[in-house]
Amino acid sequence: MSSIINGITNAIPSLTQKYSGVPERLAKEAIAAKDRLLSQKTVPDSVPRKGHSLPPDVDQATYDAAIEELKASIGASNVEVNDKTLVDGWYMEHPNTHDAYHVVDQEEMTCSAVVYPGSTEEVQTVVKWANKHTIPVYPISMGRNLGYGGSAPRVPGSVVLDLGRRMDQVLNIDGDNASCIVEPGVSYFKLYEEIQKRNLPLWIDCPDLGGGSVLGNAIDRGVGYTPYGDHFANHCGMEIVLPDGSLLRTGLGAMPGKDGADNPCWQSFQAAYGPYVDGIFSQSNYGIVTKMGFWLMPETDHQSYMVTFPQEDDFERIVEIIKPLAQKRILGNIPQLRHVIQELAVTGKPKTHWYDGPGQMPREVIRQHAAQQPCGDVSWVFYGTQYGDRAGIESQLKLIRAEFEKIDGSRFYLPQDMPPEHYLHSRVQVCSGVPVLRELDWLNWVPNAAHLFFSPILPTKAKDARVVLDIVSRLHKKYGFDLFPTLCVAGREMHTIVNIVYDRYDPDAKQRATGIMREMIREAAAEGFGEYRTHLLFADQVAESYGWNNGALRKFNETLKDAIDENSILSPGRNGIWGKRFRGKGWEILDGDKRDILRDGIRPKL
Ligand code: ADP
Repeated sequence: MSSIINGITNAIPSLTQKYSGVPERLAKEAIAAKDRLLSQKTVPDSVPRKGHSLPPDVDQATYDAAIEELKASIGASNVEVNDKTLVDGWYMEHPNTHDAYHVVDQEEMTCSAVVYPGSTEEVQTVVKWANKHTIPVYPISMGRNLGYGGSAPRVPGSVVLDLGRRMDQVLNIDGDNASCIVEPGVSYFKLYEEIQKRNLPLWIDCPDLGGGSVLGNAIDRGVGYTPYGDHFANHCGMEIVLPDGSLLRTGLGAMPGKDGADNPCWQSFQAAYGPYVDGIFSQSNYGIVTKMGFWLMPETDHQSYMVTFPQEDDFERIVEIIKPLAQKRILGNIPQLRHVIQELAVTGKPKTHWYDGPGQMPREVIRQHAAQQPCGDVSWVFYGTQYGDRAGIESQLKLIRAEFEKIDGSRFYLPQDMPPEHYLHSRVQVCSGVPVLRELDWLNWVPNAAHLFFSPILPTKAKDARVVLDIVSRLHKKYGFDLFPTLCVAGREMHTIVNIVYDRYDPDAKQRATGIMREMIREAAAEGFGEYRTHLLFADQVAESYGWNNGALRKFNETLKDAIDENSILSPGRNGIWGKRFRGKGWEILDGDKRDILRDGIRPKL
């Protein structure tokens, strides 16, 4: 499949050609998304390299000899030195050499080489090699963690272990148990297609975009939108290569099955016996996950809907109405509450289509354009989905409508009320486990767009939500960014996702993007609100904000790290956890250090 723009053919690998490719059913959509993105591009595909990053404390000759040794043990074609030009690509053709959505200089967060292990045993071989040469390794599954660091290591010169390319099998789908077990390179697209091929009445749960790794997303504690939306909570069993190269299985996987088979309950019961260790392998650098089990949802009837609210300050009442509905589990999934400006952004049209002035798009301009959209001149838009049989759905919707109707001027819509291109139709798919690409359209907002997420967890309480909304609104104004808040509202907390979209080739925009991130993290922490996930470069600051009792949690994490990763070789710095070899040596990017990472880079200053 390919698109032609400016006379250049843009091939997009399909899922049958490549593990990270696009399924045939989305071929046209992918081509259109790519064309739209490329039409916003003002820079060449690549620029000449300034140099080749080496791992810390390793000279070129030693490095070259180590690489030759690795090639001899896992095959020369499975080891690629990263000395080529860097190409950012786009979502479906992302690089494994650096952070495609660079926050600092493109050249700064690069690996020295990419390695493609083909089995758990080869992962063990690479880890033992890394220990021998004290070369840090950074495992990725798909490498599409865009907005959080992509495929880049935190320590430049680390060796990226790209697990996805050769370990991409759906190892089992158990239709009876409604579960599966997958390798790192299985994307949501692939798992979905596999289930369709086998004609099983099962759903997957996918995030807004379907190209990520099922396993990688879960261990980074990503979320989706069906009732199985908490990906880590719906995993069951892991296989992990530890930082010393040894192998572990968790849950009932720790008990051998009969005659050497896998344990028959590995994908049935999560905690099994003794301490529940799975959690320490999520958002950490304690192990390399090579297999992971997941529960799949039996398919069901479903109904997506949208509710709009006219006033900015309806916000408080919306949150208070959602809370009991969610606590009583009347709401079928984790619904999203978005500001109306997002209705403009998800059309895929650039900001300049709506507004050509400097800085933030004024509220009045948003209002004028929203009035022309299907949602009308409103302030907040709620997207929800109900599940079950028709009668159940109807009775739940009746209750939900009655609650929201208490807010003057609110309006309720079903998909058939909206034109075919409206975003609600893409929600119907995502909320019923069909992975799509629609969310990419945000990235047309500015040229050469990249994004960062500021993602604090707030209580589902209007008063607290307002405190943080005020902080982010004030700082967005100060830094000149349009404010795109999405609140994923559960009964007791809200994942509050603020999407900062910036031009990654505009140094001023990058400076503002890092400035606003650091200030939002600081100000939210001062109010007692912390992030659930962040970009690699803000990991130290976020980890630092979890500082209760003199940083007791950090110290515990470090004790664990040092105990299992003697040479600090595994993903140093990930989630703000540094092994003893790196700790306190200038790698940490902390709040008070006044460090300008764009000017000075991310390595320690000598
Ligand atoms: P996705 O493409 O699904 O968004 P990635 O493969 O980029 O996700 O994974 C997200 C992050 O999780 C990576 O940057 C890496 O730090 C970590 N990670 C991914 N896969 C593994 C794995 N198999 N073992 C350990 N850590 C991993």
